[in-house]
Amino acid sequence: METADVLIIGAGVLGGSIAYYLAKQNAGRVLVLEKNSAAQGNSSLAAGLLTRGRFKAHHIPFVLETYQAINEIEHVSGRSLAMRQTGCLYAAISPRNQSQLVELAAISKSAGLKMESLDETDAAQLLPWLKLPPGSNVIFMPDDGYIDGYQLTSAYLRSAAALGVEVVENTLVHAIQKIGRRVTGVLTDRGEFSAGLVIDAAGIWAGLLALELEIALPMAPIRSHYWVTDIHDLVSPDQPFLILPDARAYARPESNRLLFGLREQNSVYVNPRELPAAMPGYTFKQDPNGWDSLLEGLPAFSKFVPFSENVGIAHYIKGFSNYTPDGEFILGAYPDMEGFMVASGCNGAGIAISAGAGRAIADLVTGQPPFTSLTPHRPDRFGTINPLDPNFLQRCAESRSGKISG
Ligand SMILES: Cc1cc2nc3c(=O)[nH]c(=O)nc-3n(C[C@H](O)[C@H](O)[C@H](O)COP(=O)(O)OP(=O)(O)OC[C@H]3O[C@@H](n4cnc5c(N)ncnc54)[C@H](O)[C@@H]3O)c2cc1C
Repeated sequence: METADVLIIGAGVLGGSIAYYLAKQNAGRVLVLEKNSAAQGNSSLAAGLLTRGRFKAHHIPFVLETYQAINEIEHVSGRSLAMRQTGCLYAAISPRNQSQLVELAAISKSAGLKMESLDETDAAQLLPWLKLPPGSNVIFMPDDGYIDGYQLTSAYLRSAAALGVEVVENTLVHAIQKIGRRVTGVLTDRGEFSAGLVIDAAGIWAGLLALELEIALPMAPIRSHYWVTDIHDLVSPDQPFLILPDARAYARPESNRLLFGLREQNSVYVNPRELPAAMPGYTFKQDPNGWDSLLEGLPAFSKFVPFSENVGIAHYIKGFSNYTPDGEFILGAYPDMEGFMVASGCNGAGIAISAGAGRAIADLVTGQPPFTSLTPHRPDRFGTINPLDPNFLQRCAESRSGKISG
């Protein structure tokens, strides 16, 4: 039997980041167990927006930590992670969205984020494909950027490995083992691993593993998706990314193509028991090609991005994000289960908040006060729930449908 101080289940962006911070904090022997190849879960599918401006001000420190980690990893490794720091343009048209944007600007200002107020003419200079009506409210956050999720995940794992963490691929955790109310290790298809602490960072599969311990994680796997257009001469890679709540949309250049995501009125959820073993090749039973969602969302989007009505679509990318009913993450321990922690439930922001989550979990493991409060993210905050109940899954889906930030 292999023995470690800490076992992390899942080599996604969260498992990778936790491993990186644990290694930096000398947390002993750390193993990351991954059932497939590292960095090929939902993290590799993300649009990768690293949006600093958040309606929940307490989420901002998580994102700031990610920018810091990217700088640090690039500096130490001497390798660029190809983040594109082109800024974020946030545009609001309806009175409701305008007043929310005023609120977001105030939160961002208090957090010390760099920000400029623009009008629709300035916005069109930055994004020649964007057509906003007069009187639109626009803010520009020049420091924001986006990054490839696979690159960032691999960078955390490589940096962790350079500091002694072992990443064990093609090793499926069948079950988390316990004696009484203490977790003792895991059972895998390669035998048993024992550890003082097991961290469940298994992404959309995390909930089922926890359920075996009679722990119900308050989250559900909800579809996230985006489209990438054909090459278009209005789009160039130096342009900022866009958050457009009036069209329930976001967009960014993907080289000379436009990548755009639409949030539908009724987000698609899947019962955790029906999840695929791996993401490549997976097709949703409901709206498998994303056409229903595209037909629903395109009229509003093309009103502000007219070329999107006629341009060809080159790619459709779909995957899952774990959503919680309250939009908070799931980070930390369960009071009545020793030797077990969870890092999940990122509400479509797992790339952006990855380093903050990794650092906070590492702080907990090494007995330091977390660098930012984890109280809103307590895994047991909902009390008793049934994460397989359709009503609960629906609440999580509504949490995504109502999301208006990046
Ligand atoms: C289309 C799309 C767009 C997105 N856009 C953004 C964005 O712009 N910005 C942003 O911040 N976030 C975005 N997200 C969300 C982000 O991708 C997720 O929040 C993040 O990837 C979650 O990371 P994770 O490490 O929890 O999961 P994953 O990356 O899925 O990693 C979990 C890992 O655990 C492994 N695993 C699972 N079960 C086991 C087991 N039993 N044994 C061993 N290994 C196991 C899996 O194989 C996987 O590698 C987007 C997501 C999607 C799908």
